[in-house]
Amino acid sequence: MSEERLNAYLIIVERSVSFEFNSPEYGKLARKIVELLYSRKEHLSDDRIAIMLNISTAEARRILQFLSKNNMIGVVKSTTPDYRTEYSWYVDDSVIANAIRKRIELVSSKLGLLIRALTEGSFYVCPNCYRRYSLDEELAYNGICPICKVQLVYINSIDEINKITKIIEKLEKYESNI
Ligand SMILES: [Zn+2]
Repeated sequence: MSEERLNAYLIIVERSVSFEFNSPEYGKLARKIVELLYSRKEHLSDDRIAIMLNISTAEARRILQFLSKNNMIGVVKSTTPDYRTEYSWYVDDSVIANAIRKRIELVSSKLGLLIRALTEGSFYVCPNCYRRYSLDEELAYNGICPICKVQLVYINSIDEINKITKIIEKLEKYESNI
């Protein structure tokens, strides 16, 4: 596992979790959890992770379940001798590669949607509220966002499509090397 790929993975984990829970602290915690799992190279239960990181089991579980649902960690389900279902979690090289691949697919599909929107033609955008205005609307509003009173910015769709296409090509190349 290259340093670069590991870093990309850690950033994906931290950002996704801080975004999902609207909490940078949770993002940092998630990073610690996956770093722990990756360095231990063994399957750990919620309880053990919580104890090792000195956090509550409920907190650990919330993060672990989110990460698992989004293909960022691996999970193994087992039954204890007293018939309880137990989950244990792990991170290995193939989990990391898969997490990065899934992320690239998500970003590519979002960029694809953006390209589709851009093919409808050039437009203006407010740099403050990001509302879009057609060329006719821009004329009607004298080039000023009617809500923010800020100068609108022209978006040349051909230039933007070319830029985004280059990004998608780069992502696809990166993905084929994972
Ligand atoms: Zn605006």
